[in-house]
Amino acid sequence: MLLYVHIPFCSGKCLYCDFYSIVANSTIIDSYIDGLEREAQLVREKYFDSTEITLETIYIGGGTPTMLTDSQLGRIMRIIDSNFRTYKLKEFSCEVNPESVSADKLAVLQSSGLNRISIGAQTFDDALLKVIGRRHSSAQIQRAYELAHKFTDNINLDLIFGLPYQTIDNLKTDLHRVAETLSAAHLACYELTFSEGTKLTEMLNHSHIPTPDEDLLVEMHRYVHRFLTANGYEHYEISNYAKPTRQCLHNLRYWENAEYIGLGASAAGYINGVRYKNCSDVDQYCRKLSDNILSIESSETLSKKSRAGETAMLALRTSAGIDREKFKNQTGYDPFLLFANQIEKFRNTHLLEIDERTIKLTPEGFLLSNEILREFLL
Ligand code: SF4
Repeated sequence: MLLYVHIPFCSGKCLYCDFYSIVANSTIIDSYIDGLEREAQLVREKYFDSTEITLETIYIGGGTPTMLTDSQLGRIMRIIDSNFRTYKLKEFSCEVNPESVSADKLAVLQSSGLNRISIGAQTFDDALLKVIGRRHSSAQIQRAYELAHKFTDNINLDLIFGLPYQTIDNLKTDLHRVAETLSAAHLACYELTFSEGTKLTEMLNHSHIPTPDEDLLVEMHRYVHRFLTANGYEHYEISNYAKPTRQCLHNLRYWENAEYIGLGASAAGYINGVRYKNCSDVDQYCRKLSDNILSIESSETLSKKSRAGETAMLALRTSAGIDREKFKNQTGYDPFLLFANQIEKFRNTHLLEIDERTIKLTPEGFLLSNEILREFLL
């Protein structure tokens, strides 16, 4: 089983962010951790009859997990240790932000098995970091990387491209830094999304920042792929690149449509064929759990066919794509029959690569993945 723990606290709001996160004091964070403890127990009772749950991976994400003190992180580790079996744990990742990570916090996590660190860098350009409202500098990213490296060499850096005012040369500088200077094991490179309701989108709508240049975005996508694959990284998912054997196992299992437990406000989970989403409100989350009620805001049991569509859509996100035999074993359907129309539609494009065993996106297909993946949802 996979475990995801969500920490929805940040020191401020990045201007592009549409995740649920709040700025909170230590008392609220302590109550939140009480909620996590209760939720872990309730999930075990509701879905697992209180039997033992053996974890394959743990992922602590946010928000900003390193907003917590080392003793708060220690409490979360004890909650995990007392509710789950971790003796078969293969991967334990935690997201950290450059301005709040410390040796003490990483030491607490490492004593519970942390072996992968994901740093929210976004860009090494100080002016661009300010444009998007990040609260750290390029020098702090460098220090965070050096600190993380004392604990593990399995480090991911998140980068965003397509930032307002960012040139292709800015992006090249970022990529050279992460791939050549730091030689990070893993990179997650996302194009900036202008989500409704964010400050950056408001600035765009009022012409306070330039409109994204579509040709430049395509050039950036292609450069990221070309540069990183030429420098020893495998482009193994739409936005993810890894050195050999350094793919993120937790995410790979997620893209295989594996089940997972999600704990925390706004966390999602998938257990016994049921997908659920917790409420995105820390106060409500804490109130419900103090009354011994799970804070689930919506849940859905997918039909066998919808599950097959979802499995296909997730598999197509990865470079491995849909493997015919594996898909049949997992869903009961032959993907070449189930998706005959979609295969026909894309057969003569350069977007999908199809042979008798697999269906997968080409690097050009990754560029148009949203449009293509939609077609496979049933
Ligand atoms: S640190 Fe991450 S979660 Fe927090 S506001 Fe910034 S982008 Fe959002």
